[in-house]
Amino acid sequence: MRYISTRGEAPALGFEDVLLTGLATDGGLYVPESLPHFSLEEIRSWRGLPYAELAFNVMYPFVEDAIPADDFRKMLDETYSGFAHQSVAPLVQLDSNEWVMELFRGPTLAFKDFALQLLGRLLDYVLEKRKQHVVIMGATSGDTGSAAIEGCRRCEHVDIFILHPYQRVSEVQRRQMTTVQGDNIHNIAVKGNFDDCQRMVKESFGDQSFLGGKTQLAAVNSINWARIMAQIVYYFQASLALGGPDRSMAFSVPTGNFGDIFAGYLAKKMGLPISQLVIATNRNDILHRFMSGNRYEKQQLEHTLSPSMDIMVSSNFERLLFDLHGRDGAAVKDLLENAAKGPVSIEDYRWKSARKLFDSDAVDDKTTCDTIREIYEQNEYLLDPHTAIGVRAARNCRRDATVPMITLGTAHPAKFPDAIVESGLSVKPQLPPHMADLFEREERYTVLENDLSEVQGFLSKHWKNA
Ligand SMILES: *Cc1c(COP(=O)(O)O)cnc(C)c1O
Repeated sequence: MRYISTRGEAPALGFEDVLLTGLATDGGLYVPESLPHFSLEEIRSWRGLPYAELAFNVMYPFVEDAIPADDFRKMLDETYSGFAHQSVAPLVQLDSNEWVMELFRGPTLAFKDFALQLLGRLLDYVLEKRKQHVVIMGATSGDTGSAAIEGCRRCEHVDIFILHPYQRVSEVQRRQMTTVQGDNIHNIAVKGNFDDCQRMVKESFGDQSFLGGKTQLAAVNSINWARIMAQIVYYFQASLALGGPDRSMAFSVPTGNFGDIFAGYLAKKMGLPISQLVIATNRNDILHRFMSGNRYEKQQLEHTLSPSMDIMVSSNFERLLFDLHGRDGAAVKDLLENAAKGPVSIEDYRWKSARKLFDSDAVDDKTTCDTIREIYEQNEYLLDPHTAIGVRAARNCRRDATVPMITLGTAHPAKFPDAIVESGLSVKPQLPPHMADLFEREERYTVLENDLSEVQGFLSKHWKNA
């Protein structure tokens, strides 16, 4: 399988190169040149398979040129045996035909583990084969950092440096990063804010000379194709568990960078009957404004109780725009260059074709808290704020009550205790058993000044073979 850029100018690449590359050289994102398509009969034959086997069937067409089947199977077995539930992604029923799929049973209690646990293994496999080494450098305000660190802890050929703003991430989130032991894991607390961290990462990617040419930087952010690929699988899993593919499903997806929901769109294109996808956002609602009024316009960032969805633009949305424009890279390039300058719209018939599948809603903090409380009172079930936004949007946007509506549960409620307190409930969400001693574990991190050369000096000195 070959991968092409959404802006039409960068060279097509194979899976290995796409895995190691972030942005394409033309500024676009890589997408498969064509998608595998499964018949209903084939999908039906996967009913009851263990998660790792289903994952193999769904994903193998994307990687077959790079990885022999047995090696990929082994990687998937290892990846998903690390999840603390037999079915890996269990479904919980809220109401008649209404469900939450719990995607937070992995090591860091958020859905990002589904992709990052696999990504670490894929990277190490490909680097071993090529006798290469990379340094992953990333900035985090919370979730992604811990999932990336957990995903790379066993990698021989990867050093990972994660920058977080000193004293500005929650204690649970900091500890999830800093208590992971490993010679290749480096947590840096920068005396600055998240934007400072992000800027240093960006500048380091732009000029990597501080590494002396002996290794190179790699990114594991949500534009990495392999992350999207791994997220397609659980749409199949949920559908098969609820009578698919012989009936169609609706999904509501708490959305920030449009990665998770784009995976659902791909599942549909690969043959899974999905009749509705609900884009659930918080007050950072660029996607909701586009879906409801065909106007794509950046606004100020707002800090909300669902911080993992606090974004100004949704990077993966470009991948959908590419399809909406008949895969015309030049048109996408034009549109996004204009979008950087001010509001843009797309042709009405293109927008309407998106609206056939997608609905959207934006949920503010108060309604998020009301939803947490309401579901707890109805079901004695505690939602994290991101998932609560998904459930609220699902209820507001539902088209057909006979179609099962599945909200993706993106994080464990114990990760975001503030929202539970705000909602007025007196229950305290408990960390699951494998994390219960988080507050006793030893932490390791280095505090550095908000200074690029100091941070780069630290990296160049501390990666494994430096
Ligand atoms: C990252 C994240 C999201 C948003 O996912 P996208 O793929 O960026 O849309 C939602 N909820 C939680 C808990 C997250 O960590």
